[in-house]
Amino acid sequence: MSFRFNRADFKLPPVQLTHMEVSISFFETHVESSATLLLTAREPLATLELDARNIEVLEVSMASIGIALRCVHGAGREHPVPPPVSLGDFHACAFSMDTTRHKLVIPLARQLATGETLRVFTRCRSIPSDILFEGLYRDVTPPGAPQQYMSQCQQWGFQCILPVIDDCTAKCTFRTTLEGDIRYTHLISNGDIDRTANPDGRPVPKPGTPFRQVITFVNRFPMAPYLFLACAGTWDVLADEVRYPDGRRIGLEYLVPPGKADGARIPMQILKRSILWQHQRLGYVYPYDTYRTICMEKSNYGGMENVGNTTIITEAALIDETTGDARLIYAHGVIVHEYEHNHCGSGVTMQSPFDMWLNEAFTVDIERQFTASVFDPAFMRLREADAMRAPGCGPLAVEDTGKFGQIVREGFNDPDELVDGVTYVKAPEVLNMLRQLLGNEAYEAGSRLYFSRYNGGNANTRQFLACFEEASGQKLDGFRREWLYTIGYPQVAVRYAYEAASRELRLTLNQTRVGTGGVFTLPFSFAAVDAAGHDIPGTAQTIKLESSEAEIVLAGVPQPAFLSVNRDAGFYGTCSDLSATPEQLIVQVKRDGNLFNRVEAMRRLTDLERARLLASPIAFLSPQWLEMYRHLILDAKLSEGIKGYLLKIDEQPVDRTLLSYVRENYSVRQRIMRATARSCGETMIFNALHALDNKMITLGLPAAIERRFLKNAYFQLLVGLDSQAAHVALEEHLDKAVNITDRLNALAALWQSKHADRRAILSREGESLRKTLGGYLGYLQVIGLSSREEVFDAVAEEERRPTFSRSHPGLSRSLYVPLSLNNAQIWTARGLNWLTDTVIKLASVSEYTTLRLIAPCQAYQTFAPDLRDAVKASLTEMHAALKGGRYPSVAGRLEAYLNE
Ligand SMILES: [Zn+2]
Repeated sequence: MSFRFNRADFKLPPVQLTHMEVSISFFETHVESSATLLLTAREPLATLELDARNIEVLEVSMASIGIALRCVHGAGREHPVPPPVSLGDFHACAFSMDTTRHKLVIPLARQLATGETLRVFTRCRSIPSDILFEGLYRDVTPPGAPQQYMSQCQQWGFQCILPVIDDCTAKCTFRTTLEGDIRYTHLISNGDIDRTANPDGRPVPKPGTPFRQVITFVNRFPMAPYLFLACAGTWDVLADEVRYPDGRRIGLEYLVPPGKADGARIPMQILKRSILWQHQRLGYVYPYDTYRTICMEKSNYGGMENVGNTTIITEAALIDETTGDARLIYAHGVIVHEYEHNHCGSGVTMQSPFDMWLNEAFTVDIERQFTASVFDPAFMRLREADAMRAPGCGPLAVEDTGKFGQIVREGFNDPDELVDGVTYVKAPEVLNMLRQLLGNEAYEAGSRLYFSRYNGGNANTRQFLACFEEASGQKLDGFRREWLYTIGYPQVAVRYAYEAASRELRLTLNQTRVGTGGVFTLPFSFAAVDAAGHDIPGTAQTIKLESSEAEIVLAGVPQPAFLSVNRDAGFYGTCSDLSATPEQLIVQVKRDGNLFNRVEAMRRLTDLERARLLASPIAFLSPQWLEMYRHLILDAKLSEGIKGYLLKIDEQPVDRTLLSYVRENYSVRQRIMRATARSCGETMIFNALHALDNKMITLGLPAAIERRFLKNAYFQLLVGLDSQAAHVALEEHLDKAVNITDRLNALAALWQSKHADRRAILSREGESLRKTLGGYLGYLQVIGLSSREEVFDAVAEEERRPTFSRSHPGLSRSLYVPLSLNNAQIWTARGLNWLTDTVIKLASVSEYTTLRLIAPCQAYQTFAPDLRDAVKASLTEMHAALKGGRYPSVAGRLEAYLNE
């Protein structure tokens, strides 16, 4: 596969950037910027090249060359910031733009020797876009306010603002002055406000220019350009503070759209809890005066850490009555995640984009620990497993093609491609496995060593793992090779036998893999469990599996009722217990002390039913399965979240050999839902729902979320019933829903049912849900869920509304992605036509969202022959329309899919 950017091409730049003086002036139509860069030659240099893209360079000048102070990166933290330079010593110099390589080329008057320094001044002008969200871009402006500007510099956005060494290793100190219309409430950059220039911590009027204001920030901690922030906007502020146990305080600010400060109250509480939790967990102390969370409307990502200034899309930042449960959980995760980046990512920075997994894996791992401390850990782990197995963009699905999934990649076409399930879901699983293999203590020691050794500098994958090798005394070559440098995952099959005479339990493990490579090193956990659900003493353990076959013999144990293997998805991949009988799985569903594995056992049982239904259109669900399902509904001891998981019947099997039946998996689930609903009967389902409705409603947030999750499983059973009484019950729940998640779940169920007025109900709800962004996003996600052909008209109708905008990433993602995953309709001729048209028109607005739309097609070569050919024809058509360089990520991905 060929890429625009290859790992082999990345090397240290010939100059080290050590300091930048930046000035940015925001105007309604454009931005003027200038910078003085202090650079030190790493090697003899005759020509200086700076990265620059989509900007007009108006002037370049240079100051006389001097001998450098030695470059001290990584040696400490806080750095002295040089005083502002006078431009008197600068002389103009010739320059040219290399637009294909995106370089500003400056021939030097004489060759620069290694270690010599140079000051370069550039003055530029740029016209920020309102559809390309990198560098400075135009965000949604509040009514009556001057143009709102936001910035996004990861990965190479800084070079769209000013010429720079746009490299992760170009960590430097900054003095940044921002200027803009006097009506802006805020002009913000990284670091602390320079109190000599702005004594009140506020912008001051620009002398001689009555309608302009200026503010200066100083960042004394070397920062990579991709973390730079400059924004100008109109926000309301919710301010608070947090105090460390030693009394040190950090000012906290939420910058929110005017009138929305109330929505920041809960996030502020989560933030305060996160900061203290993170301090206690990692000992980290935030080095600046203030930590800001800044709302933006447009972004390809949920949020971005920008050293002290986290930007986050408003829909995810604020919490009010239109915030659904998935977003409530996400809010907890994203708040601690972005804050942790001040430590991991900003303090210690990846050496190149190929090490980006280091920033994210550790940060997501911390995020997971925090959410597990707030919510039920088993419930959270089930959600994480869902993310691994998600159809389309889930990393297992991506790896099944054998084309993508390597954590440390060989190359990429656009750095946005690194922001995917491989980096954010698979990579943290690798750290989870590393912790189990090394043991908690050695893992913690390794991570402490890493942060102390590289604080203030950069680190790469090899250096990261070396810290863990040093701390644990263990070699990690095998672990590193397969998990980081190959595509694919392990498949572990377990068999066991018990010999009553010798009281011996013998487990045989067999490891194969998806993708090309060797044997994975992984933590394999198991426990032998008795009929009452207790682990048999001495049998619960985690071993290091590093061969394709292994045998474990446990002597002197009583006969177990079942084995509980790979608890909490201890390793990333698949694990099947080939010895478990359906009867044993039923006992496991009811009794396993590991709640995660109860749900896994339930899913395996359902897969067995699924396989039989797939094989024959006249097959029925087994009475044993139905009886167990009814038993679970009546089980009063189960937590509501786990019960919800046990009762929720997914369309997707866990058995990945069944995944290629994309069309059939939809209809098989329909058969399961209908038969299950009928077997439970109206009365049982209504009673279960009423029991939930009548329970106390003053729940803490985690419990309330779990309850709504369970309630949704009952709503889906009502869709399975599809009787008049079921429709009435769903309508009642829709009408009296006080919570947005309950309301949207009831609406989705009605829209999926045969209710005669479903279309009218959908439009009626749309009228009121469109009034708030949170409600609108939730509503858009419902539209694509219908299994009927009418789904296309409904999506098209919504697309034509003036409220909808394809260039708003949240809106387009919410409307299009669910239909791309709708197995009932997307694989029809009309569905594939819709997908082709939508991909072609969306690629010019967002390649990032477009990649998500095509992801469900990636496995087409495993589909039935007629469907395989149809999907291939569609992918070919998309490719023909998008090839030629304007859409490198989408075209590159399509090429990879089509390449057999
Ligand atoms: Zn992150």
